[in-house]
Amino acid sequence: MDYLSTLNEPQYEGVVNTDGPSMIIAGAGSGKTRVLTFRIAYLIQEKKVDPFNILALTFTNKAAKEMRERIEQVVGSNARNLWMGTFHSVFARILRAEAEKLGYPSNFTIYDADDSKSLIKTIVKEYGLDDKVYKPNVVLNRISGAKNRLVSWQEYINNPIYAGDDAAAQKPEMGRIYKTYCLRCFKANAMDFDDLLFNTNVLFRDHIDVLNKYQQRFKYVMVDEFQDTNVSQYLITKKLASVTQNIAVVGDDAQSIYAFRGANIENILNFEKDFPDLKVIKLEQNYRSSQNIVKAANSVIALNKGQLQKTVWTANGEGNKIELIKAISDNEEGRFVASAIFEKKASDSSKNSDFAVLYRTNSQSRAIEEALRKSGINYKIFGGLSFYQRKEIKDLMAYLRYAMNPEDEQSFRRIINLPKRGIGTTSVEKIVVAAFEHDIPLWEVLTNINSFLPGRVANAVNEFVTLIKNFKISADTKDAYEAASHIAKNSGLLKELYADKTVEGLNRYENVQELLNAIKEFVDSPDVEDKGLGAFLQDVALLTDTDNDKDENQDYVSLMTIHSSKGLEFNNVFIVGLEEDLFPSQMMLSSRADLEEERRLFYVAITRAKKNLYFSYALSRYRFGRLMNCEPSRFIEEVDPSFIFVNTRYGSREPKLGRSENPPGFSSNYAKNLIANRKQQTQKKPLQYHKPSANFRPSDISELQEGQKVEHPKFGFGKVRKIDVNGANKKAQVVFEDFGEKTLLLAFAKLRIV
Ligand code: ATP
Ligand code: MG
Repeated sequence: MDYLSTLNEPQYEGVVNTDGPSMIIAGAGSGKTRVLTFRIAYLIQEKKVDPFNILALTFTNKAAKEMRERIEQVVGSNARNLWMGTFHSVFARILRAEAEKLGYPSNFTIYDADDSKSLIKTIVKEYGLDDKVYKPNVVLNRISGAKNRLVSWQEYINNPIYAGDDAAAQKPEMGRIYKTYCLRCFKANAMDFDDLLFNTNVLFRDHIDVLNKYQQRFKYVMVDEFQDTNVSQYLITKKLASVTQNIAVVGDDAQSIYAFRGANIENILNFEKDFPDLKVIKLEQNYRSSQNIVKAANSVIALNKGQLQKTVWTANGEGNKIELIKAISDNEEGRFVASAIFEKKASDSSKNSDFAVLYRTNSQSRAIEEALRKSGINYKIFGGLSFYQRKEIKDLMAYLRYAMNPEDEQSFRRIINLPKRGIGTTSVEKIVVAAFEHDIPLWEVLTNINSFLPGRVANAVNEFVTLIKNFKISADTKDAYEAASHIAKNSGLLKELYADKTVEGLNRYENVQELLNAIKEFVDSPDVEDKGLGAFLQDVALLTDTDNDKDENQDYVSLMTIHSSKGLEFNNVFIVGLEEDLFPSQMMLSSRADLEEERRLFYVAITRAKKNLYFSYALSRYRFGRLMNCEPSRFIEEVDPSFIFVNTRYGSREPKLGRSENPPGFSSNYAKNLIANRKQQTQKKPLQYHKPSANFRPSDISELQEGQKVEHPKFGFGKVRKIDVNGANKKAQVVFEDFGEKTLLLAFAKLRIV
């Protein structure tokens, strides 16, 4: 039982108190995930619980896989039978088994966000509405929000509150769109992501026998990253555990970063009410990070008002200070990150996999990527336009999906004229509308196409039907790999790609081959029981951003958004793009609560680092197709300055300073700024920028002098302290009355000389 001896006292409690409800809300790196992992091992090994009776819900499939591997090390291959995965993947599996009770076939399709958006687009168009008002994105968010609060379209339409909101938002047709969207999904035998949770709730609400069955099966329920569950997810877990009460949830309110997607931090409070016998366990020791990192993180999160009080400390060594790197441009930032990685690897023989570069938005990866590529450093981007979002992959996937489910409207639209068969969009609309208006399955329209369309097009459709019938047989009788190879070949897709001899064409051809390889791997995997095409499609549909982990054995630097990095840890972490408007994100900031969510995101980023942490920012960056002037993020100033040192060795514009020393005056300046900033924080609302004077017109500032007074449209009035000329880049250091000192590039700064 030596794995238990590695636990501290409260962790041990968390592991062995298996019966009854318990909750651990504790800081980052304190071993929450580890407690869940060991708890499962303990249940199997000591309590002799059948793995089949254990349900563990994780944030990504990858996290589940890692947990499973660790458990396997203790209990052996028995761990394979655990029910473990994301909410979506576990409940998709249950829905497959129970689909008929909800009026769905078990081969239902899972619509991804693109499918959902294009369906919404179609509906908006059919209703003759303006898609600038009813933007697919916005409409989908609204629908998703409703579903995650378990508001059905029927309730939505009948409740004047929603109608009122929508009228106020100038979107009075929302209810009607929501309804049609749901009916169209249902007709297409498709569930979107939110349906997987919504329908599970419906299933458990309306079919007590089914609920009972799963209550008995899942004798032990566990949830990691509990702070990010939404209402819909919470209700499912609560129902499942309500009989045995054997439920353990772990999380950290300071790491709640999905409120914008409906995660509900109140679940923590509800949990205490719903499970009154709750045992609350506190973990305070951080095992992950150096002291400097832990303290820096604490200093940041302390600024949030809406946080539960927690102590986090570590017995680890003090470690290095956080290195702050300033760059002129996003490209230079990329180069600095690449050199820092290169140097570190050379100095202490770290591996690529010891490094992660974290950013606020996916688009920031480009500059980093280019620099790493030029330095010959192997990297991998998680999320973004992933493999499965490429056109050629989506095309083949649509064929595979359609062979499984000929009611899938989105896949149908994608492949009906691909490769070209002479079936135009008008004919496609006629087909879809016919199915809808006559209320018959799409497939029935297709198989009786001569009643709906004129001869020439009908013939083409008939050929398509024959092809799909043939694919269907293959999908029903062969394993996923054989079926997919058959379909790739006979659909004409491969041939078309093969004929394209351009570099991109070749690439696309290889991508399709790569997809087939992935399917082969799936079929060959000992962990996979169901080797059918349907099982593979479900697997792919439920991948999360952090999951695309195909070349596990390779050594690469990880590039990902902070959101995707949750729960992970790396020896060396770069947080890049620490600039106002980018992080905290301008788009997310409309209230203090939003700023606090951005700050929690910053906290998550900091706490991913074990040994070394780097902050970087650029003074200019291409955003939205324009070169923009940037200011360092307020978050940099919020970190207790005694844990930061400014590394100027990457910049050639400033005097070189020793690695271990702050430039003179740095700390006190920062401290002053920090205090001023905190005062501002408590006294003023965030983002109270200066309002430019009525006569504000940018002056010609090419000859700006030291000592001159200026007005900046955002930062207000200030005085030029210093002009710096360095090649083409003329910079002014301006001390603003309300915003402190800022460095502005004259080529971009908008200033009025007062
Ligand atoms: P997060 O909030 O980021 O999800 P967490 O609380 O889940 O963090 P873990 O990932 O479980 O923390 O643990 C952080 C690190 O500390 C891991 O590398 C883990 O192996 C290690 N660790 C946790 N507890 C102990 C312990 N008692 N002894 C040694 N190492 C530990
Ligand atoms: Mg964790």
